[in-house]
Amino acid sequence: MSLNEEQKPLLEEDQIHQEFEALLEDYRNTNHRQKVELITKAFNFANAAHKGIKRRSGEPYIMHPLAVARIVVREIGLGSTSICSALLHDVVEDTDYTIEDIENLFGPKIAQIVDGLTKISGGVFAEKASEQAENFRKLLITMSEDIRVILIKISDRLHNMRTLGSMPPAKQYKIAGETQYIYAPLAHRLGLFRIKTELENLSFKYEHPETYQTIEQKLLADEVARNKFYEEFSKPINTKLTQMGYEFSLKARLKSVYSIWRKMSTRNIPFEEVYDLLALRIVFKPREGMNEKDQCWMLYSAITALYKPHPERIRDWVSTPKANGYEALHVTVMGPGGRWVEVQIRSERMNDIAEKGLAAHWKYKLGEADESELDKWLKTIKELLEHPEPNAIDFMDTFKLNLFASEIFVFTPKGEIKTIGQGATALDFAYMVHSDLGNHCIGAKVNHKLVPLTYKLNSGDQIEILTSKKQTPQLEWLDYVTTARAKAKLRAMFKKEEKALITEGQEKIEAQLAALKLAPDNEHMVRILNHYNITQRNELYLQAGKGLLNLGEINKILFRPKTQNVFTKYLKIPFVGSNENNKQGPTVPVDSKIDRKKPLKLTEENAGKIFRLAECCHPIPGDDVLGYVDDSETVIIHKRQCPVAAKLKSSFGERIISVDWATHKALSFEEVLEIKGIDKKGVLIEILKVVSEGYGVNISKMNIETNAGIFIGRFHIYVHDVEDINNLCKNISKIKEVNSVQRVQE
Ligand code: MN
Repeated sequence: MSLNEEQKPLLEEDQIHQEFEALLEDYRNTNHRQKVELITKAFNFANAAHKGIKRRSGEPYIMHPLAVARIVVREIGLGSTSICSALLHDVVEDTDYTIEDIENLFGPKIAQIVDGLTKISGGVFAEKASEQAENFRKLLITMSEDIRVILIKISDRLHNMRTLGSMPPAKQYKIAGETQYIYAPLAHRLGLFRIKTELENLSFKYEHPETYQTIEQKLLADEVARNKFYEEFSKPINTKLTQMGYEFSLKARLKSVYSIWRKMSTRNIPFEEVYDLLALRIVFKPREGMNEKDQCWMLYSAITALYKPHPERIRDWVSTPKANGYEALHVTVMGPGGRWVEVQIRSERMNDIAEKGLAAHWKYKLGEADESELDKWLKTIKELLEHPEPNAIDFMDTFKLNLFASEIFVFTPKGEIKTIGQGATALDFAYMVHSDLGNHCIGAKVNHKLVPLTYKLNSGDQIEILTSKKQTPQLEWLDYVTTARAKAKLRAMFKKEEKALITEGQEKIEAQLAALKLAPDNEHMVRILNHYNITQRNELYLQAGKGLLNLGEINKILFRPKTQNVFTKYLKIPFVGSNENNKQGPTVPVDSKIDRKKPLKLTEENAGKIFRLAECCHPIPGDDVLGYVDDSETVIIHKRQCPVAAKLKSSFGERIISVDWATHKALSFEEVLEIKGIDKKGVLIEILKVVSEGYGVNISKMNIETNAGIFIGRFHIYVHDVEDINNLCKNISKIKEVNSVQRVQE
């Protein structure tokens, strides 16, 4: 055995203990309670558990948990529970120890966090999109249980990204992609701005190594000139702030390679035209007796006295912090040589929040009542998880919307500020305030002007939501909303509606069967399913509930004529509208009986002779209808959903016959369309144009009410059949201001 091999384990031990000492040093530098003993215990346990195992880089494995723990304490500012969990995060995953062992040694809290970390250790990416979505879901659930799980997971990922070079290329791509896709946005959303930038930059480095190198080299080539410029630019600011008596630090912030690349590709410009490579950050110690916000603006005045500000590039995150808690005042000024430079003004506290995000938030939080934006966000995650989407991919899409959105500020009519994702519509806003407001939203007033619910909000807009009790969520609203909250609420509503339709459809079909004196047993149901070419019962019920099936056919499919003579009894029927005009022509005599085994064809020639249309429900060709044979052997046609027909079906089932519409294009029927929308100039003309020009349909009467910028119009029109109505509705609803159009009964 050579001397070298003897020495190596000793060196490793030194290396490990050096790193552990550094961790303790980081910890002692924080304000946390001094639990060095517990941390030492966790370290010793993890060190023993991972003994002899090497990372791919050749380092002892324990160096990884140690590094993660250091990120946790130094870069995120978490305390002993998180440090211990970070030290132990790979123990259950990689060794024979169990969660129970951890719980026995370190208590339930640390065990719960380690358990969460173990559950999501597989990462988000998987072979199948569905698996990936499921993993992501798991991640969110774990996260909403204890936010520290995700903070440690992000630290774990950060260290893996920092050491990604020793991984084989295929793994590099996968890990880098996953980081870019999910961990960087999560870090951003949690306010870990510095970490997010580093994660993005490292991902980019491994995904596009050549581009990364090119930009890095250009940055290097520019370095000398850039430093000279920075000196020249910052000197007057330094002098001025010193004169003002401030304690402060100035830092040059160089744009990351990834952000430079993103700017180049989104703006389609070369490297040389990215003018804001450099930013200046001022972090100041606030003076006593004056609030930080005022002091930020004082510094702003001082700087803009030296350099001219760009009027459109002031970002005031001091008056209203970002949803992730970020506070600062950004201003872009013209520096020497006409070069624009961004100046970021932050107090020490603001800087802490910007660097450490959530953890710093907790530190500065004033009592429980102060619900930060981040807490609200975590609450929405919980809400989303409480109403899970049946389809995990939908869920991921919905959730991702929340991660990537950057925010704008809008105002309620009372002047209250709300934060909402960029690109949000008036409808999103309605759902953000309250789901009832969303469900009944018909439009909005933005800055006192009427707008449709699809209106895209701008920062600073004041929004008043207009509602109507009659309004219900429409399927196309899913296209109108961009926030996860609104999407989730809508999906939940539609699911509820679908359930109601399924029940309704089932009742319809069962009533139909009962009228035929048949049970909804398997044999009959299978025949019905086969007939409509549907495989699932629920799907059949749903379609029936929506009125898409001509249930009259059930008769045809299943009806076995009963031998009893229905003509022996003449019953008095309580309804039959008696429109005298329709009674012309001979009534069919009793002996020329209608063939009840076959559906009756409703032809134009037979109208008024063999059949008449019921007054109560006004069926027109194309409607789902049934026939009732009355005393005089005339068939009265009712809509299936007509309450009178339902009564007849249950009392005189044997007199119900199925009927089929023949094509009708000669007769016209008066129908009423109810149209609701935004009362904008010209909208009525648009509607009339569609009705009369497009379809040659006659309007006999119309009645329009307007209220608060919303109109409700009732149009009496003449149509041939349901197809006409459907086409008409479809085309009218294409008019931008029209919100809903439906056939109603007067
Ligand atoms: Mn790890």
